[in-house]
Amino acid sequence: PFEKSKGQHILRNPALVDSIVAKAGLKPTDTVLEIGPGTGNLTKRLLEAGVKAVVAVELDPRMVLELNRRFQGHPLSSRLKVIQGDVLKCDLPYFDICVANIPYQISSPLTFKLLSHRPIFRCAVIMFQREFAMRLVAQPGDSLYCRLSVNVQLLSRVSHLLKVGRNNFRPPPKVDSSVVRIEPRKPLPPVSFKEWDGLVRICFNRKNKTLGALFKQKRVLELLEKNYKTMQSLQLTQDAEMGEEKMSADDVAVLANMVEDLSMETGDEKEDDEMEMDDADMAGDGAASFKEKVMGILQQGDFAEKRGSKLSQVDFLYLLSLFNKAGIHFS
Ligand code: SAM
Repeated sequence: PFEKSKGQHILRNPALVDSIVAKAGLKPTDTVLEIGPGTGNLTKRLLEAGVKAVVAVELDPRMVLELNRRFQGHPLSSRLKVIQGDVLKCDLPYFDICVANIPYQISSPLTFKLLSHRPIFRCAVIMFQREFAMRLVAQPGDSLYCRLSVNVQLLSRVSHLLKVGRNNFRPPPKVDSSVVRIEPRKPLPPVSFKEWDGLVRICFNRKNKTLGALFKQKRVLELLEKNYKTMQSLQLTQDAEMGEEKMSADDVAVLANMVEDLSMETGDEKEDDEMEMDDADMAGDGAASFKEKVMGILQQGDFAEKRGSKLSQVDFLYLLSLFNKAGIHFS
């Protein structure tokens, strides 16, 4: 009866369902978003926890039927709303907190859909495939540290809550799982996410290559030079708007504080934040080629020999601010 393509693995361990609900820290005023309620084992516990409402988005019409049948005439049913549809395609309703055992194939787009939803929610407690969960929480230097880690950690604090073996599900999936807590940063960093992701993409294209080598690639230099020229011509007419996109030194300081917890383990890398101001020709437009300009920026921040796999949030923010100050943009 269960469809593999929809990632239908039903949670069968009531103690586990209870501990997921307990970890969520629900309040009586909360509207909970549940994604993929399936037959409703988690839904039932969420309702019993005494929240204001549960809004459940389920793709499979048969599951929606089953869910409605299960809660029909039930005293809790007035607080449950089931929406049939694809969570990636529908407009999300208002919610304070998201609790879900999701189909793993939508992990990444769903995470970013949640993080870009407004108003921003308080927290999400989500079951992911173990490896995806470990990528979410990975720190600089960990083997699973990647673009996903850096991007999700820019927007939220992530923590690993529970390891869940595959035998807690029927039918058991091929992989183990983990429950993760995602708490959006408040306020969200004053950074253009497109710019940030543009930089991070380049740095993780080969995460163990030095930034010096990655930024020497023709493809990268051409892209950056194109952006640079577009920006320069725009700047003449739209100076005011441009100002909004740039990060000031104050913004970087604010961000550095916010991500302090994430950079603790990188220890000596923090010293790289010292700016060297004596690299005079770096910012000058003069005769220096665009490539030299880019290399100069990497050297200025002591990044040329560094690798994306070892850079912290603070390092990426600092590098982005150096590029932006020199008029170089990533989107
Ligand atoms: N929450 C239930 C539980 O823990 O027992 C079921 C979880 S099961 C891993 C995932 C559920 O998500 C399935 O019921 C499946 O039909 C549903 N689903 C799959 N893709 C979906 C999508 N794009 N949008 C909403 N629900 C989806």
